[in-house]
Amino acid sequence: MFKFFWQATAVCSQALPILPGKAYPALNQSSIGGRTAKYAFPCRSGKAWKRAVVACLELKDPVITILNNKWYTKHNSITSMKKTSQNNLIYYQFSHIKRLPGIVHGIFTRIGGFSNDPYHSLNLSFNVGDDPIAVQNNIQHIVNTMGLSQWQSLKQTHSCKVHVIDAIIQDPLIGDALITDQPDILLLVKTADCQPVLLTDPVNHRVAAIHSGWRGSVQNIIGKTIVRMVDLGTRPQNIIAGIGPSLGPCCSEFIHYQQELPEYMWSYAVRPNFFNFWEISKSQLQNAGVLEKNIEISKMCTKCNTDTFFSYRRKKISGRFGSVIGINKK
Ligand SMILES: [Zn+2]
Repeated sequence: MFKFFWQATAVCSQALPILPGKAYPALNQSSIGGRTAKYAFPCRSGKAWKRAVVACLELKDPVITILNNKWYTKHNSITSMKKTSQNNLIYYQFSHIKRLPGIVHGIFTRIGGFSNDPYHSLNLSFNVGDDPIAVQNNIQHIVNTMGLSQWQSLKQTHSCKVHVIDAIIQDPLIGDALITDQPDILLLVKTADCQPVLLTDPVNHRVAAIHSGWRGSVQNIIGKTIVRMVDLGTRPQNIIAGIGPSLGPCCSEFIHYQQELPEYMWSYAVRPNFFNFWEISKSQLQNAGVLEKNIEISKMCTKCNTDTFFSYRRKKISGRFGSVIGINKK
């Protein structure tokens, strides 16, 4: 078990403005109560501006971040997603998409499948060294559980290529986002730290599944998928969006961020070298016209929750878990 200590010191004499997603300098080796704190951030508590000192002496990798003026820790007790167990599988659903009639969706965990270690057990990728029969069985198990009969996935390449499909395409489809308005096709994206993003246009009964890793974020695959949906007749203000379990701001470390991330993303740092890609995706959704009230972030970090999800950063040889969305059979 991790032990976690933090303590807010006296009200800071200087009022420090704090902005969500902005990085603040850490005060290395601050001391509180005889303990040495590794990081300190200014933070807001109630109406008073305070300087909070965080001591994470017993964490190898301190994971305290500030987001919307709240403290987030390794523990993921704050997700708004609904957890369901069915047919030995465990999956999460976005609370707002779950309410929509005619739409099925789920973020499946790594639990309940047929694969052996290190892919134990619901690995959905054929490209990571797992037994293809086990992978096929895993996918079929999910499709059956969702009550549909067909599924479509992608050969994902961290691109910004979006496919609109009206029927199943058997050949490998290279790209990172799928859109359909046809019933009985379960769209599947596979991730292990990258973001699965699910979109629904409940007015036109159109759905999309996006694989957005940091390379996808840099290329704004989310915005490009919405542009394609708009071309098909979707109004962005009708879109209901969910950002699934993925690398959280606690674990999104980019040592070479100056080479890898465009400068506008640097303001999403939560502490040196750590970035909040959940907020980056949220802003990409909003820039494409999605309303803030229609965006749900799972706030589950894959690297912090490897019992539940696969994490490539935690273990390089690893499975991929599945996020699916589709329109019910007519
Ligand atoms: Zn984490």
